[in-house]
Amino acid sequence: MSTKNLDTAFFGQPRGLSTLFFTEMWERFSYYGMRAILLFYMYYAVTAGGLGMNQVTAASIMSIYGSLVYLSVVIGGWLSDRVWGPRRTVFIGGVFIMLGHIVLALPMGVGALYVSIALIVIGTGLLKPNVSDMVGDLYSPEDRRRDAGFSMFVFGINLGSAIAPILVPWVSDIFGHGGHMNFHAGFSLAAIGMFFGLVQYYFDGKKYLSDKGLVPNDPIPADELKKIIIKVVWGIVALAVILIVMGLTGVLNIDNVITLITIFAIAIPIYYFVMMLRSPKVTKIERSRVWAYIPLFIAAAIFWGIEESGSVVLALFAQERTVLHIGAWHFQAANFQTLNPVFIMILTPFFVWLWENWKNQPSAPSKFAAGLVFAGLSYVWMAIPGWLFGTSGRVSPFWLVGSWFIVEIAEMLISPIGLSVTTKLAPKAFKSQMMSMWFLADAVGQAVNSQIVKYYSSATEVPYFLAVGIVSVIFGVVMFFFSKKIHALMAGVN
Ligand code: GLU
Ligand code: ASP
Repeated sequence: MSTKNLDTAFFGQPRGLSTLFFTEMWERFSYYGMRAILLFYMYYAVTAGGLGMNQVTAASIMSIYGSLVYLSVVIGGWLSDRVWGPRRTVFIGGVFIMLGHIVLALPMGVGALYVSIALIVIGTGLLKPNVSDMVGDLYSPEDRRRDAGFSMFVFGINLGSAIAPILVPWVSDIFGHGGHMNFHAGFSLAAIGMFFGLVQYYFDGKKYLSDKGLVPNDPIPADELKKIIIKVVWGIVALAVILIVMGLTGVLNIDNVITLITIFAIAIPIYYFVMMLRSPKVTKIERSRVWAYIPLFIAAAIFWGIEESGSVVLALFAQERTVLHIGAWHFQAANFQTLNPVFIMILTPFFVWLWENWKNQPSAPSKFAAGLVFAGLSYVWMAIPGWLFGTSGRVSPFWLVGSWFIVEIAEMLISPIGLSVTTKLAPKAFKSQMMSMWFLADAVGQAVNSQIVKYYSSATEVPYFLAVGIVSVIFGVVMFFFSKKIHALMAGVN
């Protein structure tokens, strides 16, 4: 294809990629900056600047919050497709996210926390799937720069995710005094980050993003609108009834609400799978591919469960069991969150090279299987310090560095491959639903975390890391044995 008429203004890529790159970089900056300190904000004593919540509840909230953030992409995808078009949906999402951080930046209590969670869950659901969709839309189907464009976009995600866990905890510390953290200052920085992202998106987007993104793909016809409104109202009524019954029977508490959301998070992808498998719009070959996607989905959910526990379980390990200095260099437990994206940035070039040069490379299911084994090993590795030295003292920060290094190898084997295989396995009639499925795997992993994390404490860390780690390794090994079968079901997709 001739490059004469191509827009190559951003490192050889269309100029619009720069807009989306920086929007998502700032959005992830705000999200992971907030996540790096949120756990500590929830369970630190009030005298230390926290909310003084119970540590187990705080850990469980972290996980279910992460789950909700990726569950809501279903709503975001739908609103973009049928109501606003991606460009507006992303902007509205960014505004919600910024407001969510502002609410936490104000010195208010637990109520503000829940309001902030609601705003950021909705906002991220609107923004995240659509900003990635718009990256795809920058390229015509035959444009070979597409994969490289996505790699750059993912680099932007990780750049934002890497800087925030350094800056946000630092700001919380310097605006605090004598062991009292000023978490609100940290949340303000997250809000400012999203503000930069929005301003950039608004002005740059006007110049460089296509106006096609301003209209929905598949607008709702007037006669369908009524049916949809009725469905939504029924959904809200059903939810209200459940909550009222829970209230009347005295079981409406945070633990039970978390359990309820866990059930939802697991039920939604099951519903999607059943719907796609039964749909007359899906051809025989497509149906076989949906079957193939089921084991891949389960593997992804287990992997994301372990990966996402980095901001919960490993964050607790950093705070309570780790020496927080190397020589004279002191750091905070929250700073460890930078390791995940930093390792991604370091490992990506190696894996890109590997996949380009490995002639008879393993199939996607085999890569997933290897990913599960690595993810499990990153946990088994964390059982070693407690087993060797007991669980009452502090150990070298290199244990955590090692664990993140191992889990990021797993991420390289699963995340980029999963994304591309998801688009290829999608039945034509369910393209955008299938993309949501990829995020739903993460939502399921974190929903399960919100239940099992209750069993984690320094006293139980050795059996906890071993049990979860071994489950993942076993799934990986089983998947190896079935990888040929799964690959055959994929019917020609690689
Ligand atoms: N860390 C990834 C991101 O922030 C997670 C998203 C996913 O589940 O694919 O983009
Ligand atoms: N690994 C995450 C993602 O892919 C980033 C993070 O957890 O900081 O973007």
